[in-house]
Amino acid sequence: MRTMAQLNPSEIKFDEKYGPFINGQLVEATNGYINSINAATGAALSKIGRGGKEDIDLAVKAARAAFQEWSNTTIEKRSALMNKIADTLEANQERLKLIECMDTGRALHEFDLDYELAIYQFRYFASAILNYYEGASRPTQNGYLMTKKEPLGVCAQIIPWNVPMIMTAAKMAPALAAGNTIVLKPAEDACLSVMEFGKLLADILPKGVVNIVPGYGNEAGQALIDHPDINKLTFTGSVGVGRLVGKTAGERILPVTLELGGKSPHIVFPDINIDRAVENATLGYTFFNGESCVLGSRLLIHDDIYDEFVEKLIERAKQVKIGPPTDRSTRLASIINEKQGKRILNYFEIAKNEGAQILYGGNRVTVPGHEHGYFIEPTIIEAENSMRIAQEEIFGPVVTVTRWKDIDAVIKMANAVDYGLAAGIMTENLEKALDTANKLEAGSVWINSYFNFQSGAPFGGYKNSGVGREHNKEALDAYSQSKTIAVAYQLPQVGQFK
Ligand code: NAD
Ligand code: MN
Repeated sequence: MRTMAQLNPSEIKFDEKYGPFINGQLVEATNGYINSINAATGAALSKIGRGGKEDIDLAVKAARAAFQEWSNTTIEKRSALMNKIADTLEANQERLKLIECMDTGRALHEFDLDYELAIYQFRYFASAILNYYEGASRPTQNGYLMTKKEPLGVCAQIIPWNVPMIMTAAKMAPALAAGNTIVLKPAEDACLSVMEFGKLLADILPKGVVNIVPGYGNEAGQALIDHPDINKLTFTGSVGVGRLVGKTAGERILPVTLELGGKSPHIVFPDINIDRAVENATLGYTFFNGESCVLGSRLLIHDDIYDEFVEKLIERAKQVKIGPPTDRSTRLASIINEKQGKRILNYFEIAKNEGAQILYGGNRVTVPGHEHGYFIEPTIIEAENSMRIAQEEIFGPVVTVTRWKDIDAVIKMANAVDYGLAAGIMTENLEKALDTANKLEAGSVWINSYFNFQSGAPFGGYKNSGVGREHNKEALDAYSQSKTIAVAYQLPQVGQFK
């Protein structure tokens, strides 16, 4: 939904550079800067700080100093401030969407969803915190017992480049609501909207409550997870780095939340309206440029309708408009960078070598004036579920199609991956839909409408897709610790211990 007059990309003014946001302001980076570019054109947008140990240390110190006051702020006040953050995000969304669009290369129209979800996160947790502490104490033999929730302290949060503002909101909102302070490390490939958001927070939150240190993963990221004075680790990104973060948490006995991607099945039953199902399936594998952890990347299609479905899926793929990211009619735009672009193209070679059939797509296309970008056709590949192309997260607009006949077999196939983040089902039969949903190893199951995100709904993964849940009250638990206080009315009688 459009709320303000449309901005033109040329009206966006960036700061000359964005050092780390520490103690309520952008400060000079101690290790220099990294160029921040438009993913589609390669044009320089600005520079971001190349965060290192010194910057992280300053940020953690600021967060630690702010913790005492923030953790003692009343929930009414915290809630009000978080609603103010949501209002501010809402008021600035057109500008931030364009910034994020240019930075990531994703199509501008998609960011309406990103910002709707990001704003929800702040509103949801502003509200959820108000009844979070309701609970009962109970009488004991000579007194009573109560439990309370306390914040953890300084939270280290590391996010990826695909949906910067959704990630920022989903990490910050529950941590702030629960009374923690934050050091966030956004991704080096796309964080300008997050840095601009930091500037907006400076007028809302007390100094030091939120700190943002940009930089590379092996420098700023590593320094953050290794910092001795942090109390919680939260990470979204690849399984490889997720393991490293989890290992660090294990060594240091820190609570950890991990969200690590997926290879989500999208099961098509034969009873559906094929045209509508094709529409839903196409959205499921092309939205977010395919750069989404919840992508519906494995279509499992019933034999009775397989041929017609796949034919229509190909026809639909031809209609997906590839174009400049900032053009609102574009539906598929540029992959984040050359490395990811080449990685996707390489998967097409892997597919061919393992005997899969590329039915449509499989090429990089050129968009005039955007030669730097990796624009990749929606790609449909007929594959066996056991092939690498159907097992590994590609992070591009790529879907495999596989035939099934027997319901038990398709459930087995759907679950036969290391991941378990999301799944889709398309059928008009309620019993089949719910029975299948029950049997899928996935944190979110979307029946007849892919990407059906709702505020307050738990989000997270089974198996290698991660540990913990976000977006709901479980996230408040993940940013809190419980304390039991047992009260006796009197001290024991002398001589009680015989
Ligand atoms: P990544 O895991 O390397 O990066 C994610 C974040 O972690 C970034 O902020 C990065 O700087 C940081 N990081 C990297 N190394 C670190 C370290 N040693 N210590 C601390 N932080 C570190 O992901 P990527 O290289 O950007 O993408 C690679 C693949 O990961 C993608 O192709 C995709 O399959 C997957 N991915 C998943 C998600 C998701 O939402 N789950 C998001 C992005 C990428
Ligand atoms: Mn960029």
